[in-house]
Amino acid sequence: MGQFTRRTMLKNVALPIAGTFALPALAAAVQQSSSPFQRPKLKITDIRTAQVRVHGWQTHVRIYTDQGLYGQGESTDAAIGTDALVHQFRRFLVGQDPLNVDALWEKVRVSGIFAGAQGGQYVTALTGVEIALWDLAGKALGLPVYQLLGGKFRDKIRIYCDSDMEDPLGAESDRKLPWIKDQGFTAMKIDLDDATDPRRFDKVNWTASNGEIDRMVSWVKHVRETIPKDMDLACDMHGRYDATTGKRVAVALEPYRLLWLEEPVPPEDIDAMADIRHSTTTPICCGENLYMRWGYRELFEKRAADIIMPDIQKVGGLSEGRKIANMAQAYYVPFAPHCVVSPIGTMSTAHVCASIPNFLVCEWHWINHLDLWKNWVKEGEIIQKGYVTVTDKPGLGVEMDEEVTRKAQIPGTGWFEPNKS
Ligand code: MG
Repeated sequence: MGQFTRRTMLKNVALPIAGTFALPALAAAVQQSSSPFQRPKLKITDIRTAQVRVHGWQTHVRIYTDQGLYGQGESTDAAIGTDALVHQFRRFLVGQDPLNVDALWEKVRVSGIFAGAQGGQYVTALTGVEIALWDLAGKALGLPVYQLLGGKFRDKIRIYCDSDMEDPLGAESDRKLPWIKDQGFTAMKIDLDDATDPRRFDKVNWTASNGEIDRMVSWVKHVRETIPKDMDLACDMHGRYDATTGKRVAVALEPYRLLWLEEPVPPEDIDAMADIRHSTTTPICCGENLYMRWGYRELFEKRAADIIMPDIQKVGGLSEGRKIANMAQAYYVPFAPHCVVSPIGTMSTAHVCASIPNFLVCEWHWINHLDLWKNWVKEGEIIQKGYVTVTDKPGLGVEMDEEVTRKAQIPGTGWFEPNKS
């Protein structure tokens, strides 16, 4: 039996009307109009990495092709050790068409089921690769990444400022709070956990004493009364405390109408998170330490979070972040990504935020590294009056300025060194 193709089908079906149309011309026209877009045929030739430390550890990934184009990605938090993993992934990627982003991602993920591909460093390494593939795909096709993710719901991505303060009552606070307001941010965050609090009676256990809870309330009260009334305030407990403490703090902070209380209990304790969420009017936000869509399923099913905050630079990448946002939408849950990376990673997160309906706000965490932040990419500062405008340039739309970024290189590590084999 011969091959049944669009062309043979057209010929067979259209024969009775041969007198009306010139069949070869019609078949050719249909074939042409339904042909794949005349895009460049690319092959991956190499994958290289560079490691920096700014707010934590970041691994930057570059994927090179046989036609001179390269894509760049960034991963963080669980990025220590990902350098070696990314180089292991080369055997699945070199020689492949980089435009098949999801298929390549799945190939690497499934190949690692016995090697830790359920989370942590493995998924973080894969995340850096995935983001580089999207940048490359956008550059090859001449389109911004948000367009490849389905188009945009919005041009401007609302950013909140993580204040990164040791003491929200001291001189650092006096300096930072007016600065955050003057920059035009409409939301900010403070941390509530304090391992050095003298009212902490045990140095291992994280059940907060009354004194610690009073200290947390005093911090929130001070910041809330200092910043503009219409600026949102979020508070982070960093997943350290137990369920008893989480529940008590959430209730104690109800008068301050927080944007959210973040990770009141460890991330793996979904039942405790749900218990707290159902015991308070303070919105509960979590998810920065969960991985891929499977890591979020139970969270949604148990209605354990008011808001989710995947870290796009470690959760699996841009496509995975978008899929999780879509899952959240099915539960009427807004999406507020954790983001502690450079302008490259932040812009990649902005493309995801542009492409989903349920975006709330995105983090920015380089307040203590302003010089690096403003000069990391050749495009300069990407936050204007508290918003990132998603670029229309092909790919992610920002390019690293290596004279600046090398200042943050981790000693003893390579800098996008070519692979010999
Ligand atoms: Mg956090």
